Amino acid sequence: MTGSARHAEVVLPVPVARAYTYRIPDALADRVVPGARVVVPLRRRQVVGVATAVDVPAPRVEAKPIASAPDAQPALSEPLLGLGRWLSDYYGAPLGLALRAILPGPLWSVARPAGPPEEAVRVLVLTERVDSLLERERVFRRAPKRRAAYEVVEALGGAAPLRHLVDQLQLSPSALDGLVRQGLARVERVTEPRDPFARLSSPPPPTLTEDQRRVVAAITATPVDTPVLIHGVTGSGKTLVYLDVLRGVVASGSGAILLVPEIALTPQTVARVRGVFGDQVAVLHSGLSDGERADAWRALRSGRRRVAVGPRSAVFAPVQRLGTIVVDEEHDSSYKQGSVPRYHARDAAIERARLEGARVILGSATPSLETLDRAARGHVATFALPDRIDARPLPPVEVIDLRHTPPVPDAGGIPWTEPLDAAVAAALGRGEQVILLLNRRGFATFVQCPACGDVRVCPDCAIALTVHQTPPALRCHYCGHEAPVPTTCRLCAHATQRLRGLGTQQLEHFVGLRFPRARIARMDLDTTSTKWAHHHILERVARGEVDILLGTQMIAKGLDFPNVTVVGVVDADTGLHFPDFRAAERTFQLVAQVAGRAGRGPRGGRVYVQTRAPDHHAIRAAAAHSVMAFAAAELPLRAPPHPPYPPRVGLVRFVVTGLDEAATAGLAERVAAWLRRANAERLGGGGGGGALTVLGPAPCPITRLRGRWRWHVLVKAAEARVLGRVVRAWRAKAHRNVTVDRDPVLML
Ligand code: ADP
Ligand code: ZN
Repeated sequence: MTGSARHAEVVLPVPVARAYTYRIPDALADRVVPGARVVVPLRRRQVVGVATAVDVPAPRVEAKPIASAPDAQPALSEPLLGLGRWLSDYYGAPLGLALRAILPGPLWSVARPAGPPEEAVRVLVLTERVDSLLERERVFRRAPKRRAAYEVVEALGGAAPLRHLVDQLQLSPSALDGLVRQGLARVERVTEPRDPFARLSSPPPPTLTEDQRRVVAAITATPVDTPVLIHGVTGSGKTLVYLDVLRGVVASGSGAILLVPEIALTPQTVARVRGVFGDQVAVLHSGLSDGERADAWRALRSGRRRVAVGPRSAVFAPVQRLGTIVVDEEHDSSYKQGSVPRYHARDAAIERARLEGARVILGSATPSLETLDRAARGHVATFALPDRIDARPLPPVEVIDLRHTPPVPDAGGIPWTEPLDAAVAAALGRGEQVILLLNRRGFATFVQCPACGDVRVCPDCAIALTVHQTPPALRCHYCGHEAPVPTTCRLCAHATQRLRGLGTQQLEHFVGLRFPRARIARMDLDTTSTKWAHHHILERVARGEVDILLGTQMIAKGLDFPNVTVVGVVDADTGLHFPDFRAAERTFQLVAQVAGRAGRGPRGGRVYVQTRAPDHHAIRAAAAHSVMAFAAAELPLRAPPHPPYPPRVGLVRFVVTGLDEAATAGLAERVAAWLRRANAERLGGGGGGGALTVLGPAPCPITRLRGRWRWHVLVKAAEARVLGRVVRAWRAKAHRNVTVDRDPVLML
């Protein structure tokens, strides 16, 4: 061992606070630079890591050599490595986990850096449509199981892997065979998942309106380092504004990223982007195979493609000479990552843009209170698109008070009132389309014994099991635990069990009986579990093959169907009383966004919102399509004399989990005690400390999840700097059973 050996600091994708030191063999001297991937020995394995610094001091014990370095060009550019450090510092996450989020999965595989090949799967595809309820009754007269199978596959978008249908959904193979024999379906062998974006025709973009031109000009005149907010009402044409700005960026030789919520990454959207940028675009979506993902990454990294479009994680796309990042629907909660590092893609975009000297454009009809607050303090420049394209009016919203408006006769406990019923019937009569929102999937919310009141709960998650009908089961919406639907009470043996609450499956059933000729499509997590299922459903809506689209919040986002003239919110209150300081904001956004799906065409439209809280500011502001009205009412509720919440203060949530109830509570106590001590001592702000407010510990609203007990401790501070110090001090402890969630979006 010579004294002149060079060493590199290597970060591995594991939850440890420290980096490792390895020796750089002479042969790899050129390749081992900061940001490069390296393969290194770790105990008896080899793992992929990232070199974060070179020429670091030699460790006291002799360092092992780096085994190989696969990249000719470092995988992480300097700004992306910097972004990894920021994620780690801001969110208190180990650097290795931050870097693991930035590089796609296949690049961490030692065995096969390009990812595994695709396997062939057998897929059942419906070939005949049986649209109306009446026809259905005729076709399946003596085959109820076959009908159930048909309806499951239909709900999944018309095609599903046989394995999934038989193993997960427990449909009988003979019923599926029956569908094939009856000529309603066939089985196809699929070697590669069909990419619905591969061969999209790309319409030329329309010319900008006066308003759109004004906003494009205002954005380009804004200094690059000032983030921009386009506050445009639903249907105001924000997408064309983004595309026009990006066209200028790409024309000048730079690259761009367009972030959209996963669910809004529809063929429609992609076609519009392809219409402008052709094959310069890489679409990053969750359905890519490892190989496809690695290919897209390399095409961007090498500069062969210059525009990346995708959900949350596309904020890390290795676009070269990054000029602009657009965050469409910036308020959307899907931008928050649910595992470590728990980053928010909007905030990561702002930081990345800062590091690369790029521009950030945020867009929404219902901007988050965080963004409105930044705008109010002058950190974000706001430009408005106050009108819809072609001066179409925003649809009037009728609020129906469920406390005083009885349901129609025969509604059987379902909140389905006369005004909504008449509006749906009239729209169907005119050949128009209807969207119905009910933000709760399943058939009923829970099963309750009418005699003793017992409610079936998940044994692992401490939440009520949801009743599903196709296939019949009680299912936990957190962990997937399944149990048979009970016929008698497990406690008192009472013989009938009551289904309580309303879910999308039951609504679908009810609406199907009420409008037997209507073609209905349901969109929720249960019908979109397979690849592209939601695209297939939306394509059917776009082609006019669906009269009523009903579903959960999935149908509230970004859809642009001009023939939708009636939107009904069946129960606006499903999330209003969640124990979460964002409950009102989420309700406002959901109702305002789904209302924005109505009246996008020349026939206009109308919205019906059924609620038991017609005077709640979230409902009133949504009915007025006004985020400003909502903010004016909500912001004071998050400031003293009320307990302050973001954006008034910064918030960090420490979630403690464990298998043993008492041990978990005890650990939560120690976390809270550590935080209180930190507050009193050096971490709590200026000299004297005390800048933090520590709340708890308390059991989380969901006290148990997947068998683990859950407690949390909340920390608030007016100064971001103080919270940063606390999460970094905690990071050094790298405690396995405590996750840190800074700027939490869900508090359950
Ligand atoms: P937003 O995202 O603001 O809700 P979109 O960008 O989806 O609105 O645009 C709404 C509709 O208006 C889309 O169907 C779009 O194709 C159309 N549109 C947008 N800009 C123009 C324009 N300049 N001329 C004609 N139609 C346009
Ligand atoms: Zn569960």
